[in-house]
Amino acid sequence: APARGNNFVAKIIEEDLASGKVQRVVTRFPPEPNGYLHVGHAKSICLNFGVAEQFGGGCNLRFDDTNPEKESQEFIDAIKSDVQWLGFQWQGEIHYASDYFDQLHEWALHLIKTGNAYICDLSPEEARQYRGSLTEAGKNSPYRERTVEENLQRFEQMRLGEFEEGACVLRAKIDMASGNMNLRDPIIYRIRKVTHHQTGDKWCIYPTYDFTHGQSDAIEGVTHSVCTLEFEDHRPLYEWFIEHLPVPAQPKQYEFGRLNLDYTVTSKRKLKALVDNKVVNGWDDPRMPTISGMRRRGFTPRSVRNFCEMIGVTRSDGMVDVAMLEHAVRDDLNRHAPRAMCVINPLKVVIDNLEEDHLEMLTADYHQELDLGSREMPFTRELFIDQDDFKEEYSKKFKKKFTPGKRIRLRHGYVIEATGYEKNDAGQVVLVCAKLIANTLGIDPEDGDKPKGVVHWVSATRGVKAELRLYQRLFTHATPDKVDGDLMQFVNPESLMVVHGWIEPALAAVTPETHFQFEREGYYVSDRQDHTTAAPVFNLTIGLREDKEL
Ligand code: ATP
Ligand code: MG
Ligand code: MG
Repeated sequence: APARGNNFVAKIIEEDLASGKVQRVVTRFPPEPNGYLHVGHAKSICLNFGVAEQFGGGCNLRFDDTNPEKESQEFIDAIKSDVQWLGFQWQGEIHYASDYFDQLHEWALHLIKTGNAYICDLSPEEARQYRGSLTEAGKNSPYRERTVEENLQRFEQMRLGEFEEGACVLRAKIDMASGNMNLRDPIIYRIRKVTHHQTGDKWCIYPTYDFTHGQSDAIEGVTHSVCTLEFEDHRPLYEWFIEHLPVPAQPKQYEFGRLNLDYTVTSKRKLKALVDNKVVNGWDDPRMPTISGMRRRGFTPRSVRNFCEMIGVTRSDGMVDVAMLEHAVRDDLNRHAPRAMCVINPLKVVIDNLEEDHLEMLTADYHQELDLGSREMPFTRELFIDQDDFKEEYSKKFKKKFTPGKRIRLRHGYVIEATGYEKNDAGQVVLVCAKLIANTLGIDPEDGDKPKGVVHWVSATRGVKAELRLYQRLFTHATPDKVDGDLMQFVNPESLMVVHGWIEPALAAVTPETHFQFEREGYYVSDRQDHTTAAPVFNLTIGLREDKEL
C-alpha cells in the first residue's frame, strides 16, 4: 500500500520493506499504566497500529510497567478498552515489560560481568553533583572501579532486599564526560520496595525505562520503535544497550513530534490533577481530552482516526489548533449521524382545530440520504417549538419565522398557521394558538400560500424531558499549562451547563452512545454512563457550525 498522508515513519517502513532490510514490520504501543490515555496517545496509537495495518505487519500492546507505585489494573483495563474502541487490535497476547524482568536481570548481570555496570552508593544529591551539566563534564563516581565480584555480590544483595530504598543503584559504565547526559553512567536498576501489579513481591529492584525499552523491543522482534521527540537524546543509549547485550534482534528507534493541542492539556500528570481536584467528574468526563472522555463526549473512533491522519506525522513538535479536532468530529457526525428533534427552549403551540386527544403517528427517516432507518413521531394538539422560532411581528428579517397570520412547516409534518398568542406578566410569549392546514403532509397547501420556514418540534404531551449536558472547552487560555501560575485559574466556569430539553419519545429508548444531530441545535450523544429510557441524558458533542463555539 502506498504511504498515506504526511507520515515520514510510513515512508521509512516502505523503504525498509522494499530494500529487504525488514521482512515484516512490527511496531508496538508502549503506554505506562499510570493514567488514562489522551488524544496525544491516540496519535501514537494511530501511527503504530496504522503503519502495521497498512504494511501487513503487526503492532504489540506493551505495558511499560517499571514504576509500580504509580500503576494499576484500572489503568491497564482502561487502556485496552481505549485501543479497541479506536478500532485497533494488537497482535498476539498483551505484553508487559515486567514479563521480561528475569531476562533483564540476566542482562544486568551480563553488563556487570563484562565490566559495563557497577553498583553506585552515591546519594541522589551527590549523584546529581557528580553528573555535571551541559557545559561541564561529570566526575567519575568513587564506586566506579568496584570489582566484578563486588558488584555481583552487591547486586544480589540489592535483589534480596538487604539495602534500603535509595541506598544504591546499578549504573551502566559509559562515559561521565559525554556531551549526552544520558550516557553519563545512567541508572539501570533501582530499589523499590513496593508490590507490583503483575509480579507481586517477587522483585524489590526494578529496571529503568531506558534499560527496559529497547531490550523489550528486541525480545518482541519490534522492527521500528517509534517514540516522541523528547527521547531523541536517549537513542544513543538505546543503541548502546543493544550493542552491549546478547539481544535476539536489532530494533531501531525513530522519533516523531508529539501532539500539542491548544486549549488542551496532554499530560497524564496534569489530567490526573484535574481528576484528583474534582475539577472534572473523573477521567472520562466529556470535557477531558482523554480517549474515554472524547468517547463519552460523542466523538466517534473514525473522527479521532481522521484527525490523526489530518495532522500527519512529522519530526517537529507543533501546536495544533483544537478547531481541527472539533472539525473532525463535526464533519464525521455531519456525514453519518441520524437526524432527530429536540426542543431546548420550549414554546407551546396549541392547534385549535384538532381534537383534544388527537394522536397521529408520523414516520420520518433518520437521514435523508443514508439508510439509517426511521422512527415514529407522535403528532398531537399541543406541541413545543423553539421560543426563537416565533415572533409577535412579521418582518423581512424574520420571514422564515412563525408570526400571527403566517405559516410554518413542522419538520417532517404539517403546515400550521399562527392565529394568536398569549403573554405572561413579564411580557414573554408563553403560548401560540394555531390552526392545522389540511392535506399538507409532504405537500404544499392547496391555496398556494406556502410556508417560508421549517421548524423543529416535539409533541408537548408525548415528548420526553431529557437532561442535556452542554459542554464547552475546559480552558479559557490557549496554552493553560505554559503560563506561570496554576493551571486551574484558566478552567472555564461554563465548561458544563446542565439544561433540559424535550426530545422525541423514540430518542429516550435509544441505547447509550447513540449519536444524533438534533436538527438546528447541534450534535448530541446519549450518555454512556447515565442515559436511561426513564431518565434520558444527552451530551452536546459539538455545535453545528464553527462560529457557534467558544
Ligand atoms: P504523558 O507525558 O502524558 O505522561 P507519556 O509519554 O508519559 O505521556 P506513555 O504512557 O509513556 O505516556 O506513552 C505511551 C506512548 O504514547 C509513548 O510512545 C509516547 O511517546 C506516546 N505519547 C504520549 N503523549 C503523546 C503525545 N502528546 N503525542 C504523541 N504521542 C504521545
Ligand atoms: Mg511515560
Ligand atoms: Mg511523560
